[in-house]
Formats: sequence, structure tokens, C-alpha cells
Amino acid sequence: MKGSICVLAEQWRGRISETTYEALALGREVADELGVPLTAILTGWNVRDLALTLGAADSVVYVDHPLLAEAIPQLWAAAVTQVLAERRPRALLVPLTNVSLGVSTLLAMDLGVAAVNFCKDVKVADGQLRALCVMYGGKIEATVEAPGEPAILCLWPGARPADKGRVDRSPAIEQVTVTLQDSPVRLKRYIEPETGGVDLTRQDVLVAVGRGIQSRDNIALAEDLAKALGGAVAGSRPVIDQGWLPLARQVGKSGITVKPKLYIALGISGAPEHIEGMKDSGVIVAINSDARAPIFNIAHYGIVADVVETLPSLTAAIEAKRTASHHA
Ligand SMILES: Cc1cc2nc3c(=O)[nH]c(=O)nc-3n(C[C@H](O)[C@H](O)[C@H](O)COP(=O)(O)OP(=O)(O)OC[C@H]3O[C@@H](n4cnc5c(N)ncnc54)[C@H](O)[C@@H]3O)c2cc1C
Repeated sequence: MKGSICVLAEQWRGRISETTYEALALGREVADELGVPLTAILTGWNVRDLALTLGAADSVVYVDHPLLAEAIPQLWAAAVTQVLAERRPRALLVPLTNVSLGVSTLLAMDLGVAAVNFCKDVKVADGQLRALCVMYGGKIEATVEAPGEPAILCLWPGARPADKGRVDRSPAIEQVTVTLQDSPVRLKRYIEPETGGVDLTRQDVLVAVGRGIQSRDNIALAEDLAKALGGAVAGSRPVIDQGWLPLARQVGKSGITVKPKLYIALGISGAPEHIEGMKDSGVIVAINSDARAPIFNIAHYGIVADVVETLPSLTAAIEAKRTASHHA
């Protein structure tokens, strides 16, 4: 593993996270460019079968231990630190989620190296690793020469398409044993978010409402449009904060990152914290009464109009078109 590129594979309750596949896709590119192997490191309990699914990597090193059953950062970091200290890879790519964010910072501390956060991309230039990082919620981008060995590079969601990192092939797997001391940190209870049965990340069409929707009652107008398009309703933070939609529907920095085929932003100004969570959508349509709203800078199609007035006729027009195509 010495000199190789590693990816910290993140599993949560028996499922590999989407961002792990994104990290594997990027890791593959970097490893190929350097001409070194790509290794995935997986920690958990009863994770052997999951290790076999990480086919984008040449090999998977996994640590199976009952103390790693829950995502306690101190324990996962202790396990990974032992693997890294022994195997000495060139870099470790870490998917940046609330599970592994804590792990990467502890790893950096344990190994005495720096962790580079919010990496959008990693390139090889003259044999050196260069990370492109976003700062201040995406307002600034910086190129950082990745320091230390291993360089710990924490990846922003969406660095590569997850599908590129899903490879249907069994990698070589190796179980390693580590010494772990129980942590005083205990997971007492896992509180499932109130989703209303909708997973925003799996929708092809999202109709997102912002403060411009004016009132809780008007959310029904967005729901009608979402129904006509076969999609779901999401919201900006003020809409969630006012309790008009559940937390699991929030798109953005402190919400969910989405990439639907179609994202319709209704009365959303386009603050960087919102854009961060939806900018990679296939087609972005914005309706806003202010022609200078920043959302129009990233929208593919824009309508300057009052959403509350426009929505009923827009929904009716889409329904009419659907009915016509059914009868055609
Ligand atoms: C640390 C941090 C994290 C954050 N995380 C998130 C996050 O995850 N998600 C998020 O969304 N925000 C987040 N925010 C908040 C973010 O900065 C913005 O305040 C928020 O996105 C604004 O929401 P909005 O566009 O709905 O409201 P506003 O900015 O108030 O915009 C309302 C828009 O509606 C338009 N409008 C008004 N009336 C009408 C009408 N009748 N018809 C059409 N258009 C109309 C206005 O022209 C305006 O452009 C975060 C902020 C911080 C500091």
C-alpha cells in the first residue's frame, strides 16, 4: 500500500454511502495518473460483504470489530490510523459527511499531518497532488498543495458522479486486526429525520420553494406542480425554519445536496448556501419577481414573475400537455 492512493469507504448501517463511490471515482483517476494502486479502507462490524462491493478499488483493507459497529469517530479514527501508520499511503481521500468529518480531523491529529477540507477536485501536477478547495460556502476557490504523507483530502460531495465509482467486480480484500480501547463516547439513540417518506436525493424532479412563496398555504401550489411533473417538493432554509416543510426537505449547506434532472426554484433568491446544495442539477428553472435575483446567474431558464400568480397556470399548462400526450 506504500505510496498508493486510499479512499476511506464510508458505510452507515450496512450501506456504502453515495459519496464513497464519488471518492472512489476520483481516487481511481489520481491513482492511474500516478501509476499506483487504489485501495479502499473500510471499518465497521460484519462488513466483509460490503468490502466485496468496492470494485473500483484494486484492493480493500477492512477492519471488522464489534466496537466499530456504530460510527463513533474516535474508534473509527483509531482503527484507520493504525492501518495508515503501517501501510503509509500517499494520500487518503475522505468523503465529507457528518459521519466521516469527525474521523478525518482526528486522523490528521493522530498522524500529525494536515487535513485539507472541502476539496472539489484533486489533480496531479509534476508528481505532486494539488487539491482544488472551496471556501466560504463556495465564494472562493483555492488550489492547495496537499501537504504531509498521507495527505488527508476531504472531498466535497459531487466531486465525481457516483456511478463512475460503482464497478461491478470483486476487488482483492484483506482483513486487518487493530487494537482498540473502548471509547467513553456512546451512541445513545439514533433519531431518524422526519422525511415524510421522501428521499430528495433520489428524485428526478424537485420543485423547491423559498421565502417568495409567501405563506404555508401556498406550498400546496408547489405540491400541485410537483405532482404534475412526477417530482417532490423541497425548500430553502427560511421555509424549513418557519415549519412549512420538514427538515429533511431542506436543500443547501446545512441541508441536503441534490442533483435532480430538473430543479425548479420558486421564490428562492440564490444565496451561496442554497446554491451549494443544488448547482449540479441537470436543468435549473427559476421563477422570481426580482430580475436581479442571483438565482438567475445559475438558472438555465428564468421567469421573472410572481410565483403565487404564475403557479396555477403553469401547473394547468403542464397537466394539459400531459393529458394531450396521453390521448395522442
Ligand atoms: C451557515 C449557514 C447555512 C445555511 N444553510 C442553508 C441551507 O442549507 N439552505 C438554504 O436554502 N439556505 C441556507 N442558509 C441561508 C441562506 O443564506 C439564505 O438566507 C437562504 O437560502 C435564503 O432563502 P430564500 O432564497 O428562500 O429567501 P430570500 O433570500 O429571502 O429570497 C426570497 C426570494 O423570493 C423572491 N420573491 C419574493 N416574493 C416573490 C413572489 N411573490 N414571487 C416570486 N419571487 C418572489 C425575492 O425576490 C427573493 O429573491 C444558510 C445560511 C448560513 C449562514
